Amino acid sequence: MRLSRYFLPVLKETPKEAEIVSHRLMLRAGMISQQGAGMYAWLPLGYKVLRKVQDIIEQEQNRSGAIELLMPTLQSADLWRESGRYEDYGKEMLRMQDRHERDMLYGPTNEEMITSIFRSYVQSYKDLPLNLYHIQWKFRDEIRPRFGTMRSREFLMKDAYSFDLSKDDAVRAYNRMFVAYLRTFHRMGMTAIPMRAETGPIGGDLSHEFIVLAETGESAVFCHADMLGKTIPGPDTDFLGDLTPIVSDWTSLYAATEDMHDDTEFTAKVPEDKRIAARGIEVGQVFYFGTKYSGPMGAQVQGPDGKPVTVHMGSYGIGLTRIVPAIIEASHDENGVIWPVSVAPFEAVVINAKSGDAECDAASTKLYDQLRAAGIDALYDDRQTGAGGKFATADLIGIPYQLIAGPRGLAAGEVEIKHRKTGERETISIDQAVTRLKTLIEPARRDTV
Ligand code: ATP
Ligand code: MG
Repeated sequence: MRLSRYFLPVLKETPKEAEIVSHRLMLRAGMISQQGAGMYAWLPLGYKVLRKVQDIIEQEQNRSGAIELLMPTLQSADLWRESGRYEDYGKEMLRMQDRHERDMLYGPTNEEMITSIFRSYVQSYKDLPLNLYHIQWKFRDEIRPRFGTMRSREFLMKDAYSFDLSKDDAVRAYNRMFVAYLRTFHRMGMTAIPMRAETGPIGGDLSHEFIVLAETGESAVFCHADMLGKTIPGPDTDFLGDLTPIVSDWTSLYAATEDMHDDTEFTAKVPEDKRIAARGIEVGQVFYFGTKYSGPMGAQVQGPDGKPVTVHMGSYGIGLTRIVPAIIEASHDENGVIWPVSVAPFEAVVINAKSGDAECDAASTKLYDQLRAAGIDALYDDRQTGAGGKFATADLIGIPYQLIAGPRGLAAGEVEIKHRKTGERETISIDQAVTRLKTLIEPARRDTV
């Protein structure tokens, strides 16, 4: 992408309304634009990041055996009356009527709808286990939307729903999602710690929240320090096999959100120098809730003995539009965002340090073409402006590698590579620059880790 033809409305001033760094940087880097209380448009740069986050989530959901579909945003109130949640949900649910005065709602989640789809089509235990997911916009009329897309009213969520014949099978489905989540967040360069959590309005008796530690997080959390830096299961993990050892290894160490925290247990189980009491951001949550929806809604299959069995369910959410600011909270400096390669809007940016200079223009254009030919997602800052502003923009929008072509270097047949994260600079011959970038970028994509 040539920056001169792109739509990147970066802001010079720090927006006053933004309280936390990720919100400030997303506005300044031209990633989002507020369109109302808790409602945001995703501008091209932000949307590219969101799409990369979505790709990773889909790959890991699919790897674990979940199957993607798409349900509508608007739902009928009658469906929610079946589970009793139409009355229970309260003011967070956005309710409306259509022209026939039928009660409708903008879905805050989809347990009822997926249960109704399931009961329409699935009749036999032979069709289980089944895990269906979608990535769709949700609306929750939050009393205090804040921090940009971190807590918005309209937000994009991945929600998966598992159906099984027994509690034991349902726990196996839960474990598959648990491992898929470990992999998902790791691939995005985040350390998300699974912590024992309360089930809230979703209901049920087993739940973990995946928490990214951050000072600006809204939840108080407690965990064993060894939860950080644990080995993440690899892509060769056998999702058809028994994942209990992996999950037990994670859940044996103390980690709990405020609601589930037990100080006596914490002090007894965790040595003093290993105790972390911190704040965190909930990026995902997994629930096992048995027959809470399948019971009242009559989702049954014929069991092996011919008798009807009410299925056991779980649900598994990830907030895509919250992950983007969560990554920024965990990875930025005073100059801007520092994207991990796996979700960076562009993997590299070619900075033409002297646009209008024939040699700089020719060399930069050639490098940009070569990067694209090498399969690198590249931006080319070809604007007719000074080098200082270009360096500042590249730092602000957080592109992992900057390839700088200036007149002095080019005269010696050289360009410079700047690593956004470390600030390290390498001077390298023009001919070797693209190969060097490939060796830096390809392993960092993390699609094979
Ligand atoms: P919270 O406790 O933060 O209000 P929740 O527990 O009600 O969230 P879930 O029902 O568990 O949310 O939804 C699954 C995921 O969706 C959450 O883990 C979070 O990443 C995301 N999410 C929930 N509410 C919002 C919101 N208002 N804005 C952005 N993302 C959200
Ligand atoms: Mg939650």
